[in-house]
Amino acid sequence: MKVAIYSNDGKTSNKVANQLRNKISNSSLLEYDGLNPEIVISVGGDGTLLSAFHHYNDSVNNIRFVGIHTGHLGFYTDWRDYEVSKLIDSLEHDNGQSVSYPLLSIKIEYTDDGPDDNLVALNESTLKQINGTMVTDVYIKGEFFEKFRGDGLCISTPTGSTAYNKSVGGAIINPQLNAIQVSEMASINNRVFRTLGSPIIIPPDEWITIVPDNPMYNILTCDQLFIKNRLIKSISYSISDSRIYFAQYRHTHFWKRVSNSFIGVHNND
Ligand code: NAP
Ligand code: MN
Repeated sequence: MKVAIYSNDGKTSNKVANQLRNKISNSSLLEYDGLNPEIVISVGGDGTLLSAFHHYNDSVNNIRFVGIHTGHLGFYTDWRDYEVSKLIDSLEHDNGQSVSYPLLSIKIEYTDDGPDDNLVALNESTLKQINGTMVTDVYIKGEFFEKFRGDGLCISTPTGSTAYNKSVGGAIINPQLNAIQVSEMASINNRVFRTLGSPIIIPPDEWITIVPDNPMYNILTCDQLFIKNRLIKSISYSISDSRIYFAQYRHTHFWKRVSNSFIGVHNND
């Protein structure tokens, strides 16, 4: 089985990556292949896994990811840095088991004549404005829904619902649900201006279109990436046709993962 390692630059991550490389080269069942891997082991935190996903974005349907956690939160990462031998053993006994989660499709049309962009996010995409109030029209399934005024909008996947979306008051969605969520960032609501004021969750046959009034000041993000120096005419968000696959050698219940990450060690009395 062809395995790649995608590591951040931390001391522990480098150590883990070296251990992995040694064990892979000593294994008759595993082979290192950074170009066309079947398994990508991300070593670091969630940010590293997001980068690994974007690095291998073009072949994401043929890859299963594994996350080794060496630092901060590690919501996406199932393995700890001291479990390298256990993980190698699981890879050697692999029988293709996986779990998959929805991704966000982002289609961007620009005001210039340049080609449209098609991006895919694992966590979320945001449209924000740092200079003055962002004003945009929001459409759901092609029908006008509202004129939004505020700091920005966050459109997230179920696995991204625990990231930026959570910070702006969105709901946490179990990734067994094929859905995307739109949450507001500091919307202006008064007698004159009105938005819905609560997050919305849309199903697979619906899509969200955002048309900015003043694209000059807008920033569009896709996970850690952002678009600059292009004027955006409209953005369409929907659930992507592709999904992300994780090799599933152990099963952490989603809500257990949420409670471990956000509530921490506690007893229930
Ligand atoms: P970062 O600044 O390290 O990320 C912020 C925190 O979000 C980190 O603790 C990160 O975990 C955690 N995180 C990332 N994805 C998560 C997920 N799906 N569920 C729960 N927590 C998650 O930057 P980064 O590591 O490059 O990650 C980029 C992401 O940061 C963006 O996609 C966005 O979701 C998030 N972000 C959040 C805010 C906010 O909450 N105000 C603002 C900007 C960006 P690790 O420590 O393991 O990396
Ligand atoms: Mn990070």
